Amino acid sequence: MKISVKAIIVAAVAVLAAVAIVAKRGGQATPAHGREAEAAVPKPQSEGPLPRLLDLGSGKCVPCKMMTPILDQLEKEYAGRMRVEFIDIFKDQEAVKKYDVNVIPTQIFYDAAGKELWRHEGFISKEDILAKWKELGVDLGGKPLSGIVREAPVVADARPRDAVCFMCDGDVNPKTRTVVKGDSEQRLLCSPHCYFIYFSSIPGADPAAQDAKVSVTDWASGGAIPATPATYLCGVDAKGRPTVKAFADKDAAAKEQRTSPGSLLGWDVLRSKELAARCGFCDRAVYPEDACGVIVEGGTRTYGCCTHCAMGVAARLGKDIEVEAKDGFSGEPIRIKTLNGSVASLEPPTAIAWFGQKKDAEGKWVSAGCFKQGFFVNEGNLQKWLDARPSMTGRQISIAQSLADKMKLTPQQIAKACKLGECK
Ligand SMILES: [Zn+2]
Ligand SMILES: [Zn+2]
Repeated sequence: MKISVKAIIVAAVAVLAAVAIVAKRGGQATPAHGREAEAAVPKPQSEGPLPRLLDLGSGKCVPCKMMTPILDQLEKEYAGRMRVEFIDIFKDQEAVKKYDVNVIPTQIFYDAAGKELWRHEGFISKEDILAKWKELGVDLGGKPLSGIVREAPVVADARPRDAVCFMCDGDVNPKTRTVVKGDSEQRLLCSPHCYFIYFSSIPGADPAAQDAKVSVTDWASGGAIPATPATYLCGVDAKGRPTVKAFADKDAAAKEQRTSPGSLLGWDVLRSKELAARCGFCDRAVYPEDACGVIVEGGTRTYGCCTHCAMGVAARLGKDIEVEAKDGFSGEPIRIKTLNGSVASLEPPTAIAWFGQKKDAEGKWVSAGCFKQGFFVNEGNLQKWLDARPSMTGRQISIAQSLADKMKLTPQQIAKACKLGECK
């Protein structure tokens, strides 16, 4: 999310004329914490030359305001090791020219000698700022990031590829094994449900063409059968989660129905049932039982297929939301309310997020996808959840950060979110 400075300056020049006369700072930055105070106290010179992070923004733009708590935190946590400064370009128009600012917010990274190393336009997270300093070779004193970080698996995932679901990374139950035949390779899925998640992740997919490629497993014989002519017994498991059993033979399905209650459906009805509930952020098919509940301002209800997608609904719709999530380990409720793209309330206040990440082909950390994300009531529960998932990699982030990560996405990025081949 970026705001064009030229547009702001042109629109606001009349208003600013008066302000500009009062605030004649001439491009002189103030410490980040001093921006609220009229007379900011400069940092003592005694701390010597330090790397410097300069943020140019305004008190009015949303992504600028999102930078405020981040800059405050960095200033506090890295006191004496990095200077964090802020210039309000509404109060100091000279700075626009001096620092050659095109959009706000802009962050400029300087080394201790005052040389500009890098600049960034738009919102940037605390984690990304710290990672950038590291990448630029600037040592900020080696203070570790707070929270749990797992860059390498504790135990590598040794499962054979033909036992792992392409979509959810879960184990494939041989009785519900589902396969999508592609031109060159086939996609192995754990269940018909994961096929519908897969289908809803393909932009502009043609249902008939995709469905024709699918084979499911006959519950009675264990053999592979085409998906579309099969009969499906749809019930619920002990936890109330939907189950789908496929049968080549309708009589065999009816026989199973006597001991395992459910409805017998054809493919088309199964398809519309499976695609009825969608993620309000990425449009993937979800079972409401698995999803986060999202109440959009005005009262509309939707879902987040994962906790991070739930926060993304605020970014996609540009509205305040209320998220009803469950702790990934214990199932305890977590409620988040947003206001103007920021977290306004968090219940319980100790709740944190896990950002499941993996390294891409270029060695860059990217999201590990919707099935690797979660919220937890506290760090202890996250640790227990991770202990049970030794191959999981990623890092702990704040719930505010999980929202901020979504709020900085452009509409184009949101349209591509979680789509096959596009998920970054
Ligand atoms: Zn799956
Ligand atoms: Zn989603």
